Amino acid sequence: MPNQEPALESALKHFFGHDQFRFEQRSIVEQVLKNKDVLVIMPTGGGKSLCYQLPALLRPGTTIVISPLIALMQDQVVALKDNGIEATFLNSTLSFEEVRSRQKDLLMGKIKILYIAPERLFTSSFHDFLKQLSQKVGISTFAIDEAHCVSEWGHDFRPEYRQLFQIKQLYPQIPIIALTATATQRVRTDIVQQLRLNDPTVYISSFNRQNLYYEVIQKSRKPYQQLLAKIQQHQGKEKGAGIIYCLSRKHVDEVSNNLTKDGISALPYHAGLTNTQRENNQTKFIRDDVQIIVATVAFGMGINKPDVRFVIHYDLPRNLESYYQESGRAGRDSEAASCTILFGWGDVHTVRYLIGQKADPGEQRIAQQQLNQIISYAESPICRRQVQLNYFGEQFIPPCNNCDNCLSPVPIEDWTIEAQKFLSCVYRCDQRFGMNHIVDVLRGSNKKRIFELGHDRLTTYSIGKERTADEWRMLCRAMIYQGYLEETTDGYPILRLTRKSNQILKKFVSVKIPVTQKIAQPIASKEKVTSTELNEESVSLMRQLKTLRKELADQQNVPPYVVFSDSSLRQMAQLRPQTADDFSKISGVGSRKLIQYGKIFTQAIRKFCSDHNLEVSTESFSKEPTVVDKGSSKSDISSTHLKTLDLYQNGLSPSDISLTRNIRLSTVNGHIAELISAGYPIDINKLVDRERQTVIKQAIAKVGPHSLRNIREETGETYDYQEIKLVRAKWELEMPSE
Ligand code: ADP
Ligand code: ZN
Repeated sequence: MPNQEPALESALKHFFGHDQFRFEQRSIVEQVLKNKDVLVIMPTGGGKSLCYQLPALLRPGTTIVISPLIALMQDQVVALKDNGIEATFLNSTLSFEEVRSRQKDLLMGKIKILYIAPERLFTSSFHDFLKQLSQKVGISTFAIDEAHCVSEWGHDFRPEYRQLFQIKQLYPQIPIIALTATATQRVRTDIVQQLRLNDPTVYISSFNRQNLYYEVIQKSRKPYQQLLAKIQQHQGKEKGAGIIYCLSRKHVDEVSNNLTKDGISALPYHAGLTNTQRENNQTKFIRDDVQIIVATVAFGMGINKPDVRFVIHYDLPRNLESYYQESGRAGRDSEAASCTILFGWGDVHTVRYLIGQKADPGEQRIAQQQLNQIISYAESPICRRQVQLNYFGEQFIPPCNNCDNCLSPVPIEDWTIEAQKFLSCVYRCDQRFGMNHIVDVLRGSNKKRIFELGHDRLTTYSIGKERTADEWRMLCRAMIYQGYLEETTDGYPILRLTRKSNQILKKFVSVKIPVTQKIAQPIASKEKVTSTELNEESVSLMRQLKTLRKELADQQNVPPYVVFSDSSLRQMAQLRPQTADDFSKISGVGSRKLIQYGKIFTQAIRKFCSDHNLEVSTESFSKEPTVVDKGSSKSDISSTHLKTLDLYQNGLSPSDISLTRNIRLSTVNGHIAELISAGYPIDINKLVDRERQTVIKQAIAKVGPHSLRNIREETGETYDYQEIKLVRAKWELEMPSE
C-alpha cells in the first residue's frame, strides 16, 4: 500500500531548507493538515511560524494569519518571499489602491498566506471580501499568532482580539491554529474559550531555551566598566548583535553615548525619541548596520531579529516573567547566545523606593513580591534554568551545564558564628542602622560617625576583622534572603531582626550561605560562547560570507537574516560547499535559495579556498542538483515534484505548469499522481470530472490497478492515460491498508 504520510520532510527542505522538524512541529503540521483545531504553546524561537506556514503551502486555498504587530507581519512576508513563497499582508500602512491590487491577487488564488491585523478582520468590506475569497479560492486555515492577546490575564491584552470568537461562528468548518509563547495556565484556558476552539489538540513545549547561557554578575563600584568588559567578550571572533536593557531613558542615553565614545557601535531606543528616530534605530539594528541597541523595556516586542547574540540587563528586570521574555529575545535562531544580569543592591533600593511610592497597597505587595523573586533568582546559588522553569511550573533537574551556577558551582559554607556576630551587632545598634554601618562597626572602622555615635564602645565593635567588608555584605544579603533579617523598604534601608533571628542567636540553627567567588572577580565568566567553535580559517571565511550576505541583503532591502541565518553561514564556513549538490545540503538552503544564492556563495567559497591553498572542486556548479528526499519516506518526492505542487497550489492548471516549467504535460501529471500517492492533499475533483472518476474506479475494481493499459481497455478510448493515472493514485490511497 502506498505511503499515506505526506513526505513532509521533503516539503520542509524544499520550502524552508530545514532538514528536520523541531520538537513537535511535525505532529502539529499533521494535525493542521487533518483540519483539526490546534493550540500551540512554544517558547520564542521554538519555530511556531512553520506550524501554519508549511500546511498553508501543502493545501489548496489561502491561509489567513491574524497577527497584532505590523512590523512582524512585514518581516514574515519578506522572509517567506525570499523562500519563493507567495505571501502578502493587508494593514493600515497600505494605500487603497495597494489593498485593491493585493485583494485581486488573492481572489485569483495567487497568494498562499495572507497576514492581517485583527481590527481589519471584522470591517464590513473585509467581511465581504473574505466571503468571496472563501468561495472562489477557499480558506485553508485561520492561524492566530500571539494568541495570548485575547486574554486579560496575559501580559499583552488587546481588546480587538476579543472579537476573534466570530471566526468560529462565521466559518465553523475552517480549522483554527492558535499560537503563543505565553506560559501560564490561565491564559491557555482563556485562549481555548475565547476563540471557541473545537476540541483542540494542545501542544505545550518545554520552556527551556537550551541554547541560552544565563548568568548574574554582581555589580561592582564601576558597573559601566563591567558592561564594557562583557561586551568586549562578544567583540571577539564574530561581532554579534546585542541588546542592553536599562530602566530609565536617562540611563539608556548615558550608556549608549559612552559606548559610542568607547568605539562600540550602539544606538538608543526609548519612548523619549521620536517615532522616526526609533524606527530608524531599530531598522539599523535589524539590518546589522549597528551592533548594539541600548533600550528601555519598550524595545523588543515588535521585532523579529533571530540572531541577537546577547542580552544584558544593566538594571534590574521588573520580574521573572518579563526577564524570561526579554532575555528570550536572544538566540531565536537556536544558536548559542547569552543572557546576563548585572545585579546591584543599589538598584534594588531604587526599585524598593519606587514601589513604596505606589498608592495602591495591593499593587505594592505584588511589586514587592515580584522584586523578591528577581532577587532570589539573582542571589540563588542553584541552577538558573531550574529557578526560571520552576517559576513556570516546569520541573527541571540540574545541572543544565549552560548557566554560571552549573558551570562554576558556588561552594556552600557554614557561617553560623559570623551570622551571630552580625545579628548581635544589629541588635546592639538598636536596629536603627543600615548594612554599611553594621559592617563598619564589626570591622572596627575609624570613621568619625562611629565615634560620634559611641559605637566604638559596643561589645561588637571590631569583632569581625577576619572578614572583608564585601564578605560581611554577602552574609547580610543571604540572611535577608533566608529571612533572618529584614531591611526596611522606605528608601532608607535599615536592618531589623525578625522572628527567625533568635534561632540563630540561640544556636538552634546553623546558617549556610553560598560563598560567591564573584565578589573577588566580578567580571570573570566561563561562558560557552558558541555551540561549535570554528577554526581560524572557518572564522575568516565566515566573516567574508557575512559581508557577502550583508551586500545581498542591502541590494534587496531586506535584513541579512532573511538571506541566510547565522547557522547556515556557520555550516558553509565549516563544510565549504563548492557544488550545487553540496550547497543544497546546508541547513537553511531550500530549493529557491539554492537557485537564488547557490552560485554566488559557492563562488565566494571557491575563491576563499583557492586563496588559502585549500582544495578547490573541479566540478562546476550544476543547475539541477538532486535535492531532498532524506530517505525518511518511501515515496520519491523530489524538488521537481514540489515545484509542480507549488505552482499547482498557486492555482496553475497542469497545462499551465507544463508551459511555465517547460516540461511535458505527462510529466506534470505524473508528478501530481505521485504527490497524490504520497498523501499530499490534492483535490482530484478539480482535475478529473467526478463521473469519469467513477468509471475509472469501476474499471480498476474489475481489472486491478497494475496495468494502465488494461484499465484503459476497460474504460474505453475516450479516457486517457493521464486521468487514469491520477484516479488510480487516489484509488490506491483510499484503499484500506492491508
Ligand atoms: P517563534 O515564532 O516560535 O518565535 P520562529 O517561527 O520565528 O519562532 O522560528 C525561529 C527560528 O527557527 C527561525 O529562524 C526559523 O527559521 C528557525 N526554525 C524553525 N523551524 C526550524 C527547523 N525545523 N529547523 C531549523 N530551523 C528552524
Ligand atoms: Zn544551570
